[in-house]
Amino acid sequence: AVTERESLYIINEFAKEHFMHNMHEIPEGQNIGLSYFEERGFRADIIKKFQLGYCLNSGDDFTKAALKKGYKLEYLESVGLTRTKEERSFDFFRGRVMFPIHSISGRVLGFGGRTLITDNKKVAKYFNSPESIIYNKSEILYGLYFAKGDIVKYDNCFLCEGYTDVISMHQAGVANSVASSGTSLTKEQIRLIKRYTQNITILYDGDAAGIKASFRGIDLILEEGMNVKVVLFPDGDDPDSYSKKVSTTELMDFIKANTQDFVSFKTSLLLAEGNNDPLQKAQIIRDVVQSISLIPDQITRSVFTTEIARVFGFDESIVINELNKLRKNQI
Ligand code: ATP
Ligand code: MN
Ligand code: MN
Ligand code: MN
Repeated sequence: AVTERESLYIINEFAKEHFMHNMHEIPEGQNIGLSYFEERGFRADIIKKFQLGYCLNSGDDFTKAALKKGYKLEYLESVGLTRTKEERSFDFFRGRVMFPIHSISGRVLGFGGRTLITDNKKVAKYFNSPESIIYNKSEILYGLYFAKGDIVKYDNCFLCEGYTDVISMHQAGVANSVASSGTSLTKEQIRLIKRYTQNITILYDGDAAGIKASFRGIDLILEEGMNVKVVLFPDGDDPDSYSKKVSTTELMDFIKANTQDFVSFKTSLLLAEGNNDPLQKAQIIRDVVQSISLIPDQITRSVFTTEIARVFGFDESIVINELNKLRKNQI
């Protein structure tokens, strides 16, 4: 007998194929879904590789096909592809372009679905599959299935915010890229990366939200004993939009030239905020030392206390003192 788990995998696989078929074979899907991706500059081979698709706007096109195939309505609902209200079932993702989310071994665990409506703030830009027995958001990284080989090869992982960032990075030939789509970064996601490399470079959006998320990401990554660097994109850009404006070489050059370790990333941003007020400076040092204090390894910690003392022209012993105070409080 097929287990419930197995049934859900089979349904997601069927859905993925169905949404791809819609987008490549059905006029509505070609005109709406495929042309959306083409207008955003996604190449045909990349659209195929990431198994992107389109859920027709007809209401229950997918649900009907799945029921006809013999899949249980209850299972269609538990993977979140179908919603039933007052005895009427409809496709949860109707009218959206579809991003299948793969497990490390390539099975489809869930979907992200993007609306094509860009000017209505009342419509959520992305829908994500709900959690189910096969989909645990906090333990999945979008794109890892495609990225893991290159993460090992380059001994580094580029961590982005969104689906389209990952896809565009792959398209630009930077395939060691993943995203924590649909949730803010978790410890479990960082541990997934740790299976392949000790090094993470954060490539979040160049806006206030992206910077804030970078600060949080830095601390989580340091706590796992990993190395973290950050690339700050120009305000208003993310890896997807930036990569569409420049050549692959220019993208690589930009990333190389703008990769900062977490100490200089945090200090430069905090300094810019706080001008040169000495009290502000002390607060900045405390803020950066707080991040350093999370690093489990003492030798690594001392590398960064040396750096911050040098940047601020302080005696290192003052920094170490501050660090020891913080570490005592943590224990
Ligand atoms: P696009 O380029 O298609 O506009 P994006 O990835 O740049 O998308 P962001 O607004 O930067 O979109 O959000 C980053 C990620 O956060 C998205 O890829 C998506 O996974 C998730 N996300 C964004 N908006 C929502 C939402 N309303 N509900 C759930 N998840 C969302
Ligand atoms: Mn964003
Ligand atoms: Mn973005
Ligand atoms: Mn974007």
